[in-house]
Amino acid sequence: MRARLAACAALAAVTGLGTLATPAAQQRTSGGIVPPVDAAAAVKVFPVQGNVSMLAGPGGNVTVQVGADGPLVVDTPAATAAQAVFAAIGRLSPKPIHTIVNTHFHADHTAGTGALVKLRGAGSQAVRVMAHDNVLTRLTAATTAGESTAALRVNTVIVLPVTSPLFTPSRDFFLNGEAVFVHHVPAAHTDGDVIVHFRGSDVLSTGDVFRPDLYPVIDVQNGGSVNGLIAALNRIIEITVPARYQEGGTRVIPGHGRLCDEADVVEYRDMVTIIRDRIRELVKQGRTLAQVKAARPTRDYDTEYGADAGFWTTDMFVEAVFGTINAK
Ligand SMILES: [Zn+2]
Repeated sequence: MRARLAACAALAAVTGLGTLATPAAQQRTSGGIVPPVDAAAAVKVFPVQGNVSMLAGPGGNVTVQVGADGPLVVDTPAATAAQAVFAAIGRLSPKPIHTIVNTHFHADHTAGTGALVKLRGAGSQAVRVMAHDNVLTRLTAATTAGESTAALRVNTVIVLPVTSPLFTPSRDFFLNGEAVFVHHVPAAHTDGDVIVHFRGSDVLSTGDVFRPDLYPVIDVQNGGSVNGLIAALNRIIEITVPARYQEGGTRVIPGHGRLCDEADVVEYRDMVTIIRDRIRELVKQGRTLAQVKAARPTRDYDTEYGADAGFWTTDMFVEAVFGTINAK
């Protein structure tokens, strides 16, 4: 532990990242709204663009950027899938992992971080692990409460603050021959979301603020809100640039699901905004949650994004929008 702390201090000195004051995040002990992970699923590698590839299979998508400095990995789906993910990264680059960014605290995006760091090998230089302050806060709160989830393995590694609402809203650094930006998008899927932009490769990794296969998961108890989520989607649209006929250009790696581009995000943003506006109108008319649900504000989108069962149903989405409609 002492060695890790020392490494942390040394890294902080090197990178100039001191420990920023942790914002008073609501203490919450739940692991949040997390889809099932199939840790035994094969890891598939999809070259995306430039230095960046996407790994899919066990759970959340993993983004890997390679180059002279060593791989930068965004998200780590499950401790038990870490070996397969590590092997896939090894096929993309022979170099040791340089940096891991966790887009938020949910286990399907953090649980393999500790295992990946261990696989990197003893004696090699410490892996830099980055996440928003609130990711560490929430994982620590869950540990204290004794709610052991695989996500807590992240506590075995160095977690540096990416940013704080009180300070700068993003961090940037140069790695593997290109500028990399880590932007915090407040109160969206959770209260600790970041999106990662590889400027040279022109690829954006979004975490769960965007997933094209389902209504957006808004983890209200962990600081998510519909308005923050729409703001995050608008941020993605600001950063992305389409090529010809509004297709291609910047590639978007979502938290789950297929590789996308700006047009996909625009369509999704419009859907969320339309449903939000419908529900807001019903709330203004004084409708109760039951009445809002009965009005079926999602009806025309349900075949594409809806679910009657599973970890995130249409009902849960409507409830989350209803509950956060007036949140900033
Ligand atoms: Zn999530």
